[in-house]
Amino acid sequence: MADDGTTAAPWLLPASFPRGAMLLQDPTLNKGTAFTEAERDVLDLRGLLPPHVLSQSAQVARVLENFRRKPNDLERYIDLAALHDRNETLFFRVVVDHPDEMMPIIYTPTVGLACQQFGHIFQRPRGMFISANDRGRIVSILRNWPHRRVAIIVVTDGERILGLGDLGASGMGIPVGKLSLYTAGAGVHPNQCLPILLDVGTNNEALRRDPLYLGLDQPRLTGADYDSLVEEFVHATQQVFPGVVVQFEDFANHNAFRLLERYRERICTFNDDIQGTAAVALAGVLSALRITGGTLGEQRLLFQGAGEAATGIAELVVAAMVAEGLTADDARRRCWLVDSKGLVVAGRTELAAHKTRFAHEHSPVADLLSAVRQLKPTAIIGVAAVGGAFTREVVQAMAAQNRRPIVFSLSNPTSKSECTAAQAYEWSEGRALFASGSPFAPVSLGGTTFVPRQGNNSYIFPGLGLGAIVSRARHITDDMFLIAARTLAQQVTAADLAQGSLYPPLTAIRDVSAQIAAAVAEVGWRDGLAEASMPSDILAAVRAAMYEPTYATYVV
Ligand code: NAD
Repeated sequence: MADDGTTAAPWLLPASFPRGAMLLQDPTLNKGTAFTEAERDVLDLRGLLPPHVLSQSAQVARVLENFRRKPNDLERYIDLAALHDRNETLFFRVVVDHPDEMMPIIYTPTVGLACQQFGHIFQRPRGMFISANDRGRIVSILRNWPHRRVAIIVVTDGERILGLGDLGASGMGIPVGKLSLYTAGAGVHPNQCLPILLDVGTNNEALRRDPLYLGLDQPRLTGADYDSLVEEFVHATQQVFPGVVVQFEDFANHNAFRLLERYRERICTFNDDIQGTAAVALAGVLSALRITGGTLGEQRLLFQGAGEAATGIAELVVAAMVAEGLTADDARRRCWLVDSKGLVVAGRTELAAHKTRFAHEHSPVADLLSAVRQLKPTAIIGVAAVGGAFTREVVQAMAAQNRRPIVFSLSNPTSKSECTAAQAYEWSEGRALFASGSPFAPVSLGGTTFVPRQGNNSYIFPGLGLGAIVSRARHITDDMFLIAARTLAQQVTAADLAQGSLYPPLTAIRDVSAQIAAAVAEVGWRDGLAEASMPSDILAAVRAAMYEPTYATYVV
């Protein structure tokens, strides 16, 4: 198979094409028991496999049988990671065909647990580890990567993994998981994906005391030392993989906003925690408005949290309200933040820059419940990673003030969720329009079954990244996130809304991603930001570019 995923005509297999045991050990080419009789003959596989040739669907059935026998989700994660290392095509087949079952394992919430246990469950390295000791040689390190057509890098420095804090090099599970979703959810070819852990040390003392911790045993780099390493890294990515999309992931506040501002005009980059989250949350609100009937500009949003997710969502909501005709000032006054010190108000001193734009004139308010009572929001959006923050009193206050209160518990993993789906529905007497970051099962209440769906950025970033790749976008703009949010909301059907679902089912993710990619790419062409030439049918071109996890035929 060529590096871009196309299959060579079988009789043209290069002499360097691995054969025998080497072939079985190459996860990108391995088909295991599905190698055909002819392939076994020509590729020196006779005797290395049991004689019965299995179809891919029979292999999937076997994988599922073993997967479902595992005693817990961490074991299921380990099981899938091992399959990924053995037979990449089969791994993606399983994930693509069973997204409801597999995505919570390879991504949130289980990936959080896998990161916490990273050194203990480690089997084989995946992706690249670039450390503070690699200063001055990052270009040559990137050249060690076996694939040349890398189109997207997801990078973390591990400082704010989900809601779990500083996990240092153990944060590698996040770029790996995200890129698996790029492939499964949007068909970005696995060889185009590169997960990277930038190991700048960790301030997590317990982790550094763990003898099985795999990262640098030193405190985090800070200041100019940190910035210059990131600068060398970003520069190197463009030198080795020109035009590659760089997605910053799970960086802490104090770096995330700065790095986004520094690089967004220089390369094709975005921060998923800030911008991807924003688009998915806005899409959920737009879906909710199809039920409540109001306009976005009439809403008042109260955020529990004032970090990357909260201010990212608020900024995109402002952009969407401005597109509806509000002034930016009026739009901003419709978004309020609560942080650990209470309501973010103008009189507060030492507010971080990203919060000040939403620090409105108001007397101090100490807690979320008081803020709900005083501000009378139409929506509360939880993104502070404070589990249980939406108490019965908070949800009841929302339900007393709104016929259909919008209640989004977006924090991850599940333990950090502001309230469960059952709590939201019960405490609001079935009136809450609910979405969550981590999955919750359907809830039956008073003869109605509600099907809450995940307001998770996995609905947005795969399609957005695919759109950037297909159009070879030079930059990723706010307009692209806005169109991504609207496109996602349009994919929600009347039947979805009738059961309380504000997002499409995960089983539709590839179609959703194709629509988002086409819309994003179109904005790129419209705004003169795309290097690729524009096809006559953008959606068809996007679909044609999507990888399908079916086996190549090496020999006929
Ligand atoms: P962050 O560290 O940037 O922000 C957290 C914010 O919470 C900070 O502003 C902090 O001041 C505030 N906070 C802390 N304690 C608080 C308290 N007791 N009351 C009110 N506010 C408090 O983190 P982030 O990137 O914004 O992520 C926050 C959460 O959102 C995480 O759990 C993350 O997993 C989740 N998230 C979910 C999605 C999704 O797709 N559903 C996407 C991104 C982030």
